[in-house]
This record gives sequence, C-alpha cells and structure tokens, in this order.
Amino acid sequence: MPNRRTRHILCLSGGKDSSALAIYLRDRVPGLEYLFLDTEMELPETYEYLDKLEAYLGKRIIRLKHDGRGFDHHLALRRGYLPSPRMRWCTEELKIKPLERYIGNDRVFSYVGIRSDEDRSGYMSRKPNVTPVFPFKEDGVTKADVLRMLEKSGLGLPEYDPWRSRSGCYLCFFQQRIEWVGLLENHPDLFWKAAAYEKTSDSGERYTWVASESLEELARPERVAEIKAEHEQRMALERLRIPDRPLFSLFTETVEAWQTERGCPICEL
Ligand code: SF4
Repeated sequence: MPNRRTRHILCLSGGKDSSALAIYLRDRVPGLEYLFLDTEMELPETYEYLDKLEAYLGKRIIRLKHDGRGFDHHLALRRGYLPSPRMRWCTEELKIKPLERYIGNDRVFSYVGIRSDEDRSGYMSRKPNVTPVFPFKEDGVTKADVLRMLEKSGLGLPEYDPWRSRSGCYLCFFQQRIEWVGLLENHPDLFWKAAAYEKTSDSGERYTWVASESLEELARPERVAEIKAEHEQRMALERLRIPDRPLFSLFTETVEAWQTERGCPICEL
C-alpha cells in the first residue's frame, strides 16, 4: 500500500468565518491547502472576495470544480427536480464529491471555521481518513473576534453582506425571501436565471425555489414591498428583544438565527 500523506486543508466558502480562519491559520499551520469548492454558480461578490483573500494571504486558493458535469447535467438526470433542503443533491454532486476526489486516501486534517459562540457541528466528512479540527471553538474565537480580524486585515466583509447573510450559490434555496429580493435588486440577471429553472410539470406540480410562490410572483412590486415590510417588522422585533446587539451586525445575525437549523453545513462558513 503506498504511503499516505498527511495533509492540512481549509475549505473556504467565500464567507466571513472561513475567511477569518484562513487569516488566523496562515502562520500557524505550515503547508495548509486553501480550497474553494466552486459550483460555478456563486455570486460575483464571492469570487471577488476570494481574490482579495488570496492576495492578502499570499497563498494560492485552489478552486475545485465538478468533473465536467455541472448543475444542469444533474438537474436533467433528476428530471428537473430542483434541489431543496430535503433533497440537497447539489451539495453532494458539486461540493462533497469533488472534495472527496481531491482528498483521496490521504490522511487529512480539515479545518472548520465554526466559532465558539455557535451551536452547530458543520460538515462532517464521511471519510474515515478525514479529521475535523475546530480552531475557533478550541480557542474561544467569537463573532466579534472574526469581525475584528477581517477589519484589521483590510479584507472587511463580503460585498454581498448588506443584502445576503451567507455565501453560496446565487440560486440557493436556503435564501430567505428578503435575500431573493436582494438578488433581484443587485443581480437581476442572476435572479431571472434562477427563475428560469422553475417550472410546472404536465401533472401541474410546481417546482419553485421558494415554498408556495414562484420567483416571478415574488418579483411583483407589491410582493416585494410586502416582503420588505415583513422583514422590517422582524428586524424591529429583534432589536427590541436584544437591545445590546451592535447595529452593524443586526441583519446578518437575525437571518443566521432563523437559518441556523436549515443552512447548508458545507456551503456557508
Ligand atoms: S449553496 Fe445552496 S444551492 Fe449551492 S450547493 Fe450549497 S446548498 Fe446547494
């Protein structure tokens, strides 16, 4: 049996926590491999943020892609059945499989950017040769520390931060309605590209990204106004509930709180 290498990897999502972890580990873990699992459907802001991070680190970020059979191929195989929180085939085909191919049988320590103030475990590899490591949890690093690290490095937050709480595909079904509105207003081309995947089957079954409404319905001005008003109300309630919370993080924290249980553990750090 050939000698197995020991490797250290960090999967970046293009979000704030994994990026802060990259900064945190740069001089702590020699030979760390920085990976980005590229579905080719990420937001332009995510790609820009990764470029900035790469420049800051002075290290190459390896962009791992699928095996040539991307989202459309897998969607066709599933007869147009869109991925959803219960059928998350996109993560499996476009992120987990490319990662497992890359790792092979090497002994791998996989660094995960879950903070000490979070109550979730994140993505656990099925491979027995992969050991997860949680430096932020072990060292008591909180969200405030992450924000400080990003500010100090000059990287700041990803440009999508004012309207979207996390990285991931532009068409991700984990988005809140207010984030779909954000996509409509910031990237109308991507919004309508996502809308084009929705359809009604011959038997009348609707395949939509959001439960019980299509993106075309969601994009109507009166519906957009309604979604914004509902969001404002929720924000106001959150502000009342937690008066000490810093204003700059309200949007992100609120949506994260709603989505903690539902987010994608490998796409979102
Ligand atoms: S970000 Fe969303 S759509 Fe993209 S692979 Fe992850 S779960 Fe699927």
